[in-house]
Amino acid sequence: MSKQTHAFQAEVAQLLHLVTHSLYSNQEIFLRELISNASDACDKLRFEALNNTALFEDAPELQVRLSFDKAAKTLTITDNGIGMTAQEAIDHLGTIAKSGTKDFMSKLSGDQKSDAQLIGQFGVGFYSGFIVADKITVETRRAGAAPAEGVRWVSGGTGDFEVETIARAERGTSVILHLREEALEYANTWKLKEIVGKYSDHISLPILMEKEEWQDGELIDPNDEKAGRKPGGMVKTGEWETINKASALWTRPKKDITDEQYADFYKQISRDFEAPLTWTHNRVEGSTEYTQLLYIPAKAPQDLWNRDKKAGIKLYVKRVFIMDEAEALMPSYLRFVKGVVDSADLPLNVSRELLQESRDVKAIREGCTKRVLSMLEDLAKHDKAPEATDGVTDVLSEEDKAKFGQYSKFYAEFGAVLKEGLGEDFGNKDRLTKLLRFASTTSDTVSVSFADYKARMKEGQDAIYYITADTLAAAKNSPQLEVFKKKGIEVLLMTDRVDEWALNFVHEFDGTPLQSVAKGAFDLGKLQDEEEKKAAEDAAETFKPVLAKLKEALKDKAEDVRVTSRLVDSPACLVVTDDGMSMQLARMLKQAGQSAPEVKPVLEVNPDHELVKKLDGSVHFHDLAHILFDQALLAEGGLPEDPAAYVKRVNALLS
Ligand code: ADP
Repeated sequence: MSKQTHAFQAEVAQLLHLVTHSLYSNQEIFLRELISNASDACDKLRFEALNNTALFEDAPELQVRLSFDKAAKTLTITDNGIGMTAQEAIDHLGTIAKSGTKDFMSKLSGDQKSDAQLIGQFGVGFYSGFIVADKITVETRRAGAAPAEGVRWVSGGTGDFEVETIARAERGTSVILHLREEALEYANTWKLKEIVGKYSDHISLPILMEKEEWQDGELIDPNDEKAGRKPGGMVKTGEWETINKASALWTRPKKDITDEQYADFYKQISRDFEAPLTWTHNRVEGSTEYTQLLYIPAKAPQDLWNRDKKAGIKLYVKRVFIMDEAEALMPSYLRFVKGVVDSADLPLNVSRELLQESRDVKAIREGCTKRVLSMLEDLAKHDKAPEATDGVTDVLSEEDKAKFGQYSKFYAEFGAVLKEGLGEDFGNKDRLTKLLRFASTTSDTVSVSFADYKARMKEGQDAIYYITADTLAAAKNSPQLEVFKKKGIEVLLMTDRVDEWALNFVHEFDGTPLQSVAKGAFDLGKLQDEEEKKAAEDAAETFKPVLAKLKEALKDKAEDVRVTSRLVDSPACLVVTDDGMSMQLARMLKQAGQSAPEVKPVLEVNPDHELVKKLDGSVHFHDLAHILFDQALLAEGGLPEDPAAYVKRVNALLS
């Protein structure tokens, strides 16, 4: 193939413009990105070679070589990995495939300075090379292809790139950076070693550089050796040395790994630029042997809600990379966990299908799930700083003190996903239930556990009360809470969309039933004294005729109408029958375009309210009845079926 010119995909051009027109606080990340690509290329080769060892040709030792040429102002990163065909070079280096980069693009603000900083944090893969280079030449040959089928890709990082066929004896890829004047500092052994140490130490692949030796300069006086020599310089020796630790981080003992190294490794595998919230690293022995290094991110990704999103676990078998996104190793409700599992038992040629069936995989999945839950339980235990007065804070280790507030942070990001586990993982339901946190009528922050609630229950209270609503404000001001507030009974406020669904799987906690305050007839049991009960019965009796009339007027809207003692300030509220679907869930289903059974609520009226007292004998009875109903609907976040009619009725009364 002779030289061809191709245009970059518009998004790449846009990205390159930014890369080449900005200054960077940490330019050096280009090396991390290119070494990471080289390492991926070697992983891919190793994987393909499982079924075709010929791909190794005569170079089975996979490695990355760094070299520079000061005179030519180039820095070259060479790997003997999978390489690329011409078509692959055109496709992969001319378009943006990586979702992380797309994500990054969507975050661009247009302000060059802050955008440039973003690049530094994210890295933009191959294109990071243009941070330090004004031209990049890529020479590559796909493993298994003939030496005559090499490819040269060249671009100045503007609108287009050139591709041509070349002869290339070695398999793999060389990325040759033609350094900008301001970036010549990277053509330096020490500089490169420093950067590799910082970002790529734990890459399991050896990174090699040619050894340099000091050599004195020429004789100052060729006729007089004693006059000494001119200053010399570092000279390449032709010998290559490994400059990184080249041992996969997770295989090293915990005590030899610093927090910073753990965090760096996380950033590398997750492509997250923030440090993780926490992690767990263990070698599991027994019938199934494996190493797990699992991280909980500090922030939820944008696509957290996509249940098809793959789990963030990389699977290795005896340190050989097998696959990304091994979802069989982590249940869906823990899809936010990132990390590495390295199995000693699985066959190297394990396929995705096989993974689903393997007993070892099942054991690993259970083990990983338990670990994550233990990690969360530990954070939850130390979430609240103990009261300073009881002196406990002093005996806590620094490590435990560092956990204050961590669980709340976690929960704010991932709590809603965790709840999916209630319906998904029955084996761990109890542990998950204990990890739930809610806001309540005594706590605006989402920090109340069922255990906290139980510890605060009133004498004689025999249920855990809760209410679900669309927002915290709607929950807090709901008329159904009035009597609970009056009596000082705490009610949990549930405002996550999944709460309603999740509660289908939790009916009680530690022997105490959960009771929605918006479901079923009002019954506070022992919390109501005889006098109150008597008053309620009397009211029901006196209101009988009015109730009958209301029922008739609202027969299309309300399942039933009755008096209640759950209200204090409001005239009326809506509840559903015990086994009925809540109004909120029905609304949610409708919004989601799903069919929901028609929920006809029960209208409950407050016999002590002026408006209700005035009903009897009013000439506006019919309008008042409908207004009562519609207002009750509004109060709980719903909309009257016919809003215009509602407005008309209210206006008629007002005037
Ligand atoms: P990412 O590596 O996240 O996919 P990049 O922009 O860094 O994004 O690279 C794009 C693609 O180019 C890679 O997915 C890979 O297919 C190919 N590529 C990049 N560097 C190499 C390399 N050294 N060897 C083989 N393929 C490579």
